[in-house]
Amino acid sequence: MAASQDEQDVISCMLKLPIEVNPSEDEGEDVDESNNRQQSEEPREGVNGPQGPQPLDEAEATSEFSHELSDEQTYYDVFISVGIRQALPVMNPYICIWCTGNKEDDTINGLCDSCKSRMRKDEEEQELFDKAIDVFNFTIASRRVRFYDKIEHILDEHGESRFLIYKGDHNKARVQVPGLDFVILNEAGVQTEYTLSEAQQELLMQCLLTSRQCHCQMIFLPDLLNQEFHGSPMEDLDLPPGHGDVASEASRLVDSIREVFFTPKHETCGSHYIYKFEMSRSKRQYAVSFSDKQLGWPQIVRPWEEYYHERIEDVTGTRNDVNDLGDKREVTERCVETDLERVREEDPFSDEYFKHLEMQMYLDDSQWITDDWKKWKENGKL
Ligand SMILES: [Zn+2]
Repeated sequence: MAASQDEQDVISCMLKLPIEVNPSEDEGEDVDESNNRQQSEEPREGVNGPQGPQPLDEAEATSEFSHELSDEQTYYDVFISVGIRQALPVMNPYICIWCTGNKEDDTINGLCDSCKSRMRKDEEEQELFDKAIDVFNFTIASRRVRFYDKIEHILDEHGESRFLIYKGDHNKARVQVPGLDFVILNEAGVQTEYTLSEAQQELLMQCLLTSRQCHCQMIFLPDLLNQEFHGSPMEDLDLPPGHGDVASEASRLVDSIREVFFTPKHETCGSHYIYKFEMSRSKRQYAVSFSDKQLGWPQIVRPWEEYYHERIEDVTGTRNDVNDLGDKREVTERCVETDLERVREEDPFSDEYFKHLEMQMYLDDSQWITDDWKKWKENGKL
């Protein structure tokens, strides 16, 4: 059965594009046939080699991490996978990043006219928003520069685009970001290829580059957030003693930043970290997240109550759930320091060891952040 006009409209609307519709000739086409169709097409550059997405074999979908890489290996087995359905809600460049209403232009992470004019009258919120967008753009830029994972574009068992992200060994692997100029969706047995605009490709990439980043950001970002929102100097900026404190008392934008660990209202994600900001002047509270896009959630800053009711199933976790900024990093440092060697000796192929190894990698990576941030503030790019 062909996709109904309604279904096509829903997708076209989310992607906001007149799309190159390329349904298969046979109704109810299965994945194998789709693969044949693709192989007969012109070779595609940049997406998973010349053949385009390959169908996903069930066995591959459930593959486990390999914990020790041999000398020849550069990447761990599938690290995480993101289905196109999860990414769709963040791929529409014509929605406002604050109210998610429609906007006229396709500026990435931009505001609609009414949010723009409202915010112009609210200096505090405007400053928070601008700084948060700046930090978000920085995390994406930094991830591109420091990226050592590999993304693969395949077709899943439903014949739809899915992205597999393999974690790289940061001593060996280098950037492997594919071109993402099209995606494939399957509506009621009809596969359709959607050509993506540049803005859509960037938004899809932001979704993929924020995958599994929430806890990493808790490790990378504390000093940066302290500096940017509290006015406290980063450790090695070498300001005269007391300088930061004096400046911050008068001008600090945000009173407190907490790390919140919770169970999100989400089909595939079991736990997530975000920040909770309390403003200095108004005492208003906001949810701030630099990694929500991975979940198909477009916004970066939201009033706390709104976020809480819509996104949070349960504020839960092993460690009391709401903690001071920097807490996750401290815990991770302690954990790696005391346990890494022990779990390795116990079983170098255990999940436990892989988790510790991963934490070690994040801690190593976070050493770049201070320098990257300085470069970003000076040049607006990395
Ligand atoms: Zn808006």
